[in-house]
Amino acid sequence: MLQIKNLRCYYGRIMAIKGVSISVRRGELITLIGANGSGKSTLLMSICGLLSAWKGEIAFEDASLKGMDPPAIVRKGISLVPEGRQVFAPLSVLDNLKLGAYTRYRRKEHTEINRDIGRITDLFPILGHRAAQPAGTLSGGEQQMLAIGRALMARPRLLALDEPSMGLAPIMVEKILDTLVRLKEEGLTILLIEQNAQAALKIADRGYVLETGKIVLEGTGGDLLSDVEVKRAYLGKD
Ligand code: ATP
Repeated sequence: MLQIKNLRCYYGRIMAIKGVSISVRRGELITLIGANGSGKSTLLMSICGLLSAWKGEIAFEDASLKGMDPPAIVRKGISLVPEGRQVFAPLSVLDNLKLGAYTRYRRKEHTEINRDIGRITDLFPILGHRAAQPAGTLSGGEQQMLAIGRALMARPRLLALDEPSMGLAPIMVEKILDTLVRLKEEGLTILLIEQNAQAALKIADRGYVLETGKIVLEGTGGDLLSDVEVKRAYLGKD
């Protein structure tokens, strides 16, 4: 579904991603782990069209994403849950959800959009209870649910998430990751970027380890969890 080949991403003359190749097949949950500054967000931003200074190949469903702007990439079927959630704090929870569907209003999908709001509040009932409340008044975990809900409102086929567990209590992390498993079971393809390696690899079909802009390891979630290097560097175990 998503094919990345020999990707190199640049900030000016600095190369932050140095020849990365990864693939995501339809229906998979893929986890990418890596330390601070390893390039995880850069990779996601390139996929989503938020960073255009890249070379190599990013193809989604066999079509290159080169030169496409973020709304076009959303319309093609990729939605991003950004790092730090980035909900629109003064707007209501409902309006945040509606904004996630902004590429669909032009196509006049009003009835379907309302149905999707119903699906998302079934998935995260708290968003229904708090629909009229400003998003900024939600807890961190609730804001993360809103950010996921907002991304789902675009009806993606690939959902990309940048560290959704960041700053959340363990119980909330579990809830968020359980939701991702449920979405995968419903057929969604997921690319999950995480520093919380243990939890993320547990739910992953396959995973990649990124270090200073390069993939240094790949394997099934289970293989990586038992890998000596991963244990030492990312799981804090000997
Ligand atoms: P984190 O977990 O801290 O978000 P990350 O793995 O997502 O880290 P990136 O944010 O992708 O890493 O950063 C990769 C590299 O690119 C780092 O060396 C970082 O300093 C550099 N970098 C990121 N953004 C910029 C920028 N706007 N200008 C210059 N260099 C940048």
